[in-house]
Amino acid sequence: MGVIKENLKCVNDKISLACKNCSRNADEVTLVAVSKFHPVQAMVEAIQAGQIIFGENRVQEAKEKYEYLTSLNLKFELHIIGSLQRNKVKDAVRISTCIQSVDRKELLCEIEKQCAKINKKIDILIEVHTGEESKSGFPLDDSLDEEVKNCVNNVYPHISLKGFMTMAPNTDDVELIKKSFSTLKDLQKKYRSMYTACDFKVLSMGMSGDYETAIEQGSTMVRVGTAIFGHRDYTS
Ligand SMILES: *Cc1c(COP(=O)(O)O)cnc(C)c1O
Repeated sequence: MGVIKENLKCVNDKISLACKNCSRNADEVTLVAVSKFHPVQAMVEAIQAGQIIFGENRVQEAKEKYEYLTSLNLKFELHIIGSLQRNKVKDAVRISTCIQSVDRKELLCEIEKQCAKINKKIDILIEVHTGEESKSGFPLDDSLDEEVKNCVNNVYPHISLKGFMTMAPNTDDVELIKKSFSTLKDLQKKYRSMYTACDFKVLSMGMSGDYETAIEQGSTMVRVGTAIFGHRDYTS
């Protein structure tokens, strides 16, 4: 068995076990394989091992991979998970099925505009700033309430808000990490009670170092890179 296939099996097994340990069904958690900085061949190997959803940070890199994988007729989906510049939104919405890192109103407006042009409705997650050290995401304030309301009220008809995403602070302090994840879960509860017709089902939280903790805290989507593909070479 190839290394990537083996790693994928290992991560999927750990997801199942983490679910079992907190009496959840393994099918409640979706694995996003974060392939940023890894060659497209690594994605081909993962697809052949059954992986479908991939997370990418940089739109140019994602676009090249998208075109190659599409030319091979492979079945896959891309999620954009990194901070997104406005001028990259046009390509981002064309190649992805979900933009997880929506961290400001300007992006919502641009995603709406670009999706309207190509008549596509796209899934998004609103990225929320839940930990002291994390830099990105909506702060927990009125601006977040306002944009959730706008999404619910169909102010952006080409956008479907599926839930929320966060990055835990980069620390060894498990309690701080848990607190960041439970903050996102609490936010979901709050908006569910405000908008009872919406379930904001997706909570995208947990990476290689903390996905089991995230599952225990209610994650429904984990974004795992290093544990599947190995360390990233940022010089490439
Ligand atoms: C890179 C990245 C990941 C994956 O991190 P690993 O520690 O390699 O699993 C997950 N989420 C986001 C937003 C990332 O940028």
